[in-house]
Amino acid sequence: MKTVSESLERLGLSVPPTKPASEVPKCLPVSNPAKCFWQSEKHKLHDHRSTEELPPHSDVVIIGAGYAGVSTAYHLVKEASDSIKSITILEARGACSGATGRNGGHMRPDLYGHIPTYVERGGVQAGAEIAEFEIAHVKAIKRIVEAEKIDCDFTLSRTIDVWCNEESAKKAKAVYDQMLENNFEYMDDVIFYTGKEVEGICGVKGAKACASYTAGSMWPYKFILGLIEVILATGKVNLQTHTPVTSVTSDPNGGVILQTARGKTHASKVVYANNAYISGLLPEYDQNIVPCKGICCRITVPEGSTAPLLNNTYINRTEDNTLSYLVARSDGSIIVGGAAAKFRNHKDQWYNNVDDSILIDSAKDYYNDYMQRTYRGWENSGAKVDNIWTGVMGYSYDSNPHVGEVPGKPNQFVLAGFNGHGMPVIWLSGKAVAKMVSENIPIEQTNVPRLFKTTQERIDRARSGSEEEGDILGTGNAKATKP
Ligand SMILES: Cc1cc2nc3c(=O)[nH]c(=O)nc-3n(C[C@H](O)[C@H](O)[C@H](O)COP(=O)(O)OP(=O)(O)OC[C@H]3O[C@@H](n4cnc5c(N)ncnc54)[C@H](O)[C@@H]3O)c2cc1C
Repeated sequence: MKTVSESLERLGLSVPPTKPASEVPKCLPVSNPAKCFWQSEKHKLHDHRSTEELPPHSDVVIIGAGYAGVSTAYHLVKEASDSIKSITILEARGACSGATGRNGGHMRPDLYGHIPTYVERGGVQAGAEIAEFEIAHVKAIKRIVEAEKIDCDFTLSRTIDVWCNEESAKKAKAVYDQMLENNFEYMDDVIFYTGKEVEGICGVKGAKACASYTAGSMWPYKFILGLIEVILATGKVNLQTHTPVTSVTSDPNGGVILQTARGKTHASKVVYANNAYISGLLPEYDQNIVPCKGICCRITVPEGSTAPLLNNTYINRTEDNTLSYLVARSDGSIIVGGAAAKFRNHKDQWYNNVDDSILIDSAKDYYNDYMQRTYRGWENSGAKVDNIWTGVMGYSYDSNPHVGEVPGKPNQFVLAGFNGHGMPVIWLSGKAVAKMVSENIPIEQTNVPRLFKTTQERIDRARSGSEEEGDILGTGNAKATKP
């Protein structure tokens, strides 16, 4: 991993000479992320700085201009009381250049995959509220895209879960049945197929079972940059890109002091929305939220060639249980990623690794001929990988994100650790954090699922447990492989 000084140097910045080495964060985003399809045309606000200098003080400073930071800012601007007049967003690289700008664009609520784990952990209601929270995102995002007229290719469709391994298909059916027994109302939207007709329903060769329900997809970079345009237009938000925060300390006179590579700034309240990199500023999260790399690509069909139309999104699991998420775009291209089973054993290539400038070696060729191998009728399509990239996720030790007030640190809030599954989780988490920040209410007075609350107990459990006991490397692997 690059040192922070190296990262800052490559960003054209340097660690302030007065900074004691012990206060410099362990990890920052690298300065040279590799090319990613979603960002091939940079938005005019990508490198935006609202003012030449940092504002000396803000009511709220948000660290990170990804989905989490921008959702929080949007809700502070649109829904908070007049107590919040000034918001500054400090972003280490360009706007939305982290995981959000490099993901699969799949907004798929998890209705049964991990819900049994959460039911076991917190009871039936705790499981149901996570599924319901995630479902609520699909509708909330549709509403916001329409209300703010954001051009981001948002689509509502069915998502098809596919199992090609007989044993896994049986287990999935058992989970589905268990969810029905729980009488979760939202399961009315799910239909599960087994038997001869499965391949014909999903189009995936060798499929043994499949399920279908409502989900969404979008161009996440365009969505976030569209929101940034909206919030900047209010005049309440100051965006400072290429401004990595290197430390946050409590001010004895109230609030916090943020040291950045471009000088200091002061805030009454701070929101950590820097996801995978959070332990660089809050070391207590070092075992709870670990930077882990994932891989994603865009596949295109050569001009003049045709392939059967796919108008659903997919989660495909092969015979050897390698999972891929897939979004078919209206321009005919395919976004597909995952393949964690192919690189999981090569820990050095992805675990505790923030380098999104290079691919994951053991998975980089997996998607060559993926469409030909996987879908009926695509055999002679000539489909090929047109761009492949990596991104850095914040994997949570227990697979639930951390949302709320940082234990023992008043006026400091966190929303991070969204694994490979942020799209149906972050929007309303940001709304809730904005409410907590502006109304001084506890997380229990928001609709954030109880298992998402960041607590000292969760922090301690990860710090005293082994890596293998957690969901990242352990048997759970919850959300580590699933978008
Ligand atoms: C390859 C890949 C595919 C994925 N596919 C999907 C998918 O299809 N569906 C889905 O639901 N999820 C998916 N995810 C996960 C999803 O992208 C994330 O959960 C989500 O984007 C996290 O959003 P965020 O705002 O918390 O983090 P980010 O988007 O990473 O934003 C954090 C920001 O903080 C900045 N930052 C970090 N440290 C500092 C600092 N010290 N100072 C200032 N700024 C800082 C970073 O530069 C970054 O811009 C995928 C992720 C990857 C990498």
